[in-house]
Amino acid sequence: MARFEEYKDIFVFVEQENGNIAEVSYELISEARKLVASIPEFGYKVVGVLLGENVKEKAQEVISHGADKVIVVDDALLKDYSTQFYADALTQVVLAHKPDSMLTGATPLGRDLAPRVAARLNVGLTADATKIEVDLEYAKETGESLLDVTRPTFGGNLFGTIVCKDTRPQMATIRPKVFELAPTDTTRTGEVEEFTPSWTTTDPQVFVEKVIEKVKADVDITKANILVGAGRGAENCLDVLQKVADELGGVVCCTRAVVEDGFLDKDRQVGQTGKTVRPSLYIACGISGAVQHCAGMDKSDLIISINRDPQAEIFNISNMGFVGDCATVLPLLVESIKAAKAE
Ligand SMILES: Cc1cc2nc3c(=O)[nH]c(=O)nc-3n(C[C@H](O)[C@H](O)[C@H](O)COP(=O)(O)OP(=O)(O)OC[C@H]3O[C@@H](n4cnc5c(N)ncnc54)[C@H](O)[C@@H]3O)c2cc1C
Repeated sequence: MARFEEYKDIFVFVEQENGNIAEVSYELISEARKLVASIPEFGYKVVGVLLGENVKEKAQEVISHGADKVIVVDDALLKDYSTQFYADALTQVVLAHKPDSMLTGATPLGRDLAPRVAARLNVGLTADATKIEVDLEYAKETGESLLDVTRPTFGGNLFGTIVCKDTRPQMATIRPKVFELAPTDTTRTGEVEEFTPSWTTTDPQVFVEKVIEKVKADVDITKANILVGAGRGAENCLDVLQKVADELGGVVCCTRAVVEDGFLDKDRQVGQTGKTVRPSLYIACGISGAVQHCAGMDKSDLIISINRDPQAEIFNISNMGFVGDCATVLPLLVESIKAAKAE
């Protein structure tokens, strides 16, 4: 008997808060569909695991986004996120169903939950991944499906691919916006299974109060369709950079250098230690193109860069580039956009 014959399917933890499902869960389901399609001989399904209270009605939404099956754990103890109860429930779902792999969004919740579940199961976890592939050669040789999970390492200067050959499930947390969201199909049908955990926890925490952090940012850069990115080279002309964003109906974001220099808030930062964005248009102004920044924006549909250094790394990932001073180019850009709009 092959080592992991009883393990099958790709499970995706479906994160929700007040019944609103986190988009990253659907990005992971979209990617899991591609993974199972690459190994049709295994006959794997994509299974969503939905935890919460009164969340069963959300199962069809998860199926519409690509799941073949949804396992729902509906319990009052899961109303709000609790490390203890969520880890307990998810561990039991995994032990009962034996998935080949389990993917979770690298959100604050996912980063708290997934390692605890991995530790309870005594399996490996690749955190903060940016790419997942099935090792097709290995699958052919061994009859086992092995995930090659890639993540930035050494401060983002290198990418490492991690495999968990000897344990199942293979677990990973993946950053939001790394994978593309597949279109929804509301006619899709799938199985919904309810799972009742037997709580093993002996020392329940008491939920006293939920304090919601005041949203500092007036905007969410991850939702913007057009982003105008400010780098250190545009710090002396941020007002005109804002005008470019306004004229285009876009939003200003920035590099870590600009945050560290005190010009913009951290929630505007794009990159490895900031946010991952995927807009239709990203205009990079005075940005050098360090890997840690590019990791957060290189999947933008169209990248236009302005930099006075023709050798700047940012040009290597740009669709179009202007060699020039931002303080000169940006006012011209505002005028050109205005003129184009007036036509
Ligand atoms: C662990 C780690 C995590 C990190 N995470 C992030 C992250 O999440 N996001 C992030 O952005 N960085 C991150 N960094 C920092 C990153 O390595 C770079 O230092 C940073 O992105 C550089 O920002 P910058 O391009 O604005 O500045 P600089 O590197 O100083 O580049 C400025 C650029 O502007 C050009 N320029 C200067 N003046 C002008 C002008 N007048 N007109 C036109 N061009 C001009 C210059 O030619 C240069 O290319 C991280 C670093 C580490 C070690």
